Amino acid sequence: MARYTGPVCRLCRREGMKLYLKGEKCVTKCTFEKRSSPPGMHQQRRRKVSDFALQLREKQKARRIYGVLEKQMKNTFDKATEKRGATGEVLLELLEARLDNVVYRSGFAKSRSQARQLVNHGHFSVNTRRTTIPSYTVKANDTITVMPSSRESQYFKDVLAWAKTQTRPAWLEVDPESFTARIATDPAREQIETQVDTQLIVEHYSR
Ligand code: SF4
Repeated sequence: MARYTGPVCRLCRREGMKLYLKGEKCVTKCTFEKRSSPPGMHQQRRRKVSDFALQLREKQKARRIYGVLEKQMKNTFDKATEKRGATGEVLLELLEARLDNVVYRSGFAKSRSQARQLVNHGHFSVNTRRTTIPSYTVKANDTITVMPSSRESQYFKDVLAWAKTQTRPAWLEVDPESFTARIATDPAREQIETQVDTQLIVEHYSR
């Protein structure tokens, strides 16, 4: 399945919440509060929502927040089932530990899609090794750094001011001046602010 390239604010309206897919505009110019009705001609129609629909929506919400394709989501779920712990919580922890998400949480990108592109283009290293795989799973004590050759680019000069103002989860330590982020601990469910009901996602994939 191809990656969605249509208007992303529509996705927020579909999920009924702000998904923060547009970077800075989500803070300064978001129209969601003014227009939050679901997209489509039949948006006003009332109907009973089935369990399946609820589970599907929750899974789609998580997928859209983290910007992963269905196949990647399913693979991550399968990985979560093999690990110890509640599958839904492990799933979210694995999504949170993706390299593109870490770059976003660090403040070196304003959205996850931008982070994914920056990683793809080779602007980051993990433990001094250039890494171009956005789905790469980081672990405790890993250090993510902007490549020295990229630091002089206008983009990274500009993003520094943004990075300095961002609040970060407890599992992540960032030093914007040295373009470095360190994974203090593996992200735990209670440290992840993403608002999804992981139990519904587990039910969806367990059908
Ligand atoms: Fe969603 Fe951002 Fe668009 Fe607001 S601006 S509706 S948060 S994508």
